[in-house]
Amino acid sequence: MSAPKERATFLKQDDLPTSWYNIQADLPERLPPPLDPGTHKPMSPEPLFRLFAKELVAQEVSQERWIRIPEEVLEAYRWLPRPTPLFRAYRLESMLKTPAKIYYKWEGVNPTGSHKPNTALAQAYYNMKEGTKRLSTETGAGQWGSALSMSGAYFGLKVRVFMVAASYAQKPGRRTMMEAWGAECLSSPSSRTKFGRSLLAKDQNDPGSLGIAISEALEDVLADDGAKYALGSVLNHVLLHQTVIGLEVKKQLELLDVRPDVMVGNIGGGSNYGGFCLPFMGEKLSKKQPIDFVACESAAVPHTTKGKYTYDFGDTAGMTPLLMMYTLGRDYKTPPIHAGGLRYHAMAPIISYLINKGHMRSVAYNQTEVFEAAVTFARTEGIIPAPESAHEIKFVIDEAIRCREKREPKVIVFNNSGHGLLDLTAYRAYLDGKLEDLPPTKIQYPAIVD
Ligand SMILES: *Cc1c(COP(=O)(O)O)cnc(C)c1O
Repeated sequence: MSAPKERATFLKQDDLPTSWYNIQADLPERLPPPLDPGTHKPMSPEPLFRLFAKELVAQEVSQERWIRIPEEVLEAYRWLPRPTPLFRAYRLESMLKTPAKIYYKWEGVNPTGSHKPNTALAQAYYNMKEGTKRLSTETGAGQWGSALSMSGAYFGLKVRVFMVAASYAQKPGRRTMMEAWGAECLSSPSSRTKFGRSLLAKDQNDPGSLGIAISEALEDVLADDGAKYALGSVLNHVLLHQTVIGLEVKKQLELLDVRPDVMVGNIGGGSNYGGFCLPFMGEKLSKKQPIDFVACESAAVPHTTKGKYTYDFGDTAGMTPLLMMYTLGRDYKTPPIHAGGLRYHAMAPIISYLINKGHMRSVAYNQTEVFEAAVTFARTEGIIPAPESAHEIKFVIDEAIRCREKREPKVIVFNNSGHGLLDLTAYRAYLDGKLEDLPPTKIQYPAIVD
């Protein structure tokens, strides 16, 4: 009798990683520093204390390899609950007749449905500890705003969310969720900030963008001494917190006695893929293990495949420090693709660096091929994936077919970042044959620093 097929690999709650992994300790060189937008000189971290909890600023620039997860955050992770399962996609493999083994980490099990609470809980914790009364943030599709709202409820902080106007109108359910968790949710551009009012004066129906909502949240924080800002992606400390994903995957693959050949994920700002793959990237950099790292993005927002690796602002108004990253320019008008989490003009400095140096590659897909992959996945694996996650599923299916043609039994592991149960309008459009591919809009590369 053969052993039963183990579809899911679980860890005990006791097996939760107790430290986050900081890739900065293992990079061949230091990351290019953030620059002061006025002087273009490397910036000291102090001005950031006004915006972020001190401990988060310290983590942003830390070169320590391991950063201890506070007991209160571990308790919050157990509450979510973590560890999350690692699945083997047997039915997808057999439908594709591939010799490849396909595994995926499933981050959609918590109450918000995506990976974002992994950092939202940590950020809310440090702010609570340092006496912050209120957090202000932006959200695109609403996943980050939901995660921070739930985390604010957990640690007793007020939360205000500036939600991109187009999503606020398209996804009213997300606002309802945030309010149910006790947060305030405003359509951005809003009349609450000077920047918002200046945009509304030009166009009452401005659809907004992530860059605009970030500018509004920053202005809101600077006007209130009790408030601090929280960012859901891009920054080093956000990727750091997300490494809990990859560290769990490492233990799970060790239990299975399996080594990954290909590791795949989607990149909006780079946090879920970073958190998933960086603990393995450390091994690739020290030449212990060759892994093909593949980051998937939207062809409508081709930040790393068509963007430029240069210094740019993280927001539209130009209030943030300058970061060295792949960017399409801060005025890039992101087409209204359904994968809201992938609609950002730039990319995490860590992911940008790794792609630029050739340690990782990236690919871009159009949304109809992405949704075709998503329904194939739903019909074999059961899970209806978030439109963002469907981007890596498109790559995984193509790669598994290549494995079939070349008879290569590769081990493919991907990070399934969330479920799509709040994105059913997008699925409706696809199933009705009404979904259209959207071309990129005009790219204006920034020329801020030569
Ligand atoms: C926000 C989000 C993303 C993209 O953001 P990253 O910072 O790149 O991870 C991807 N998937 C889901 C489900 C999201 O909510």
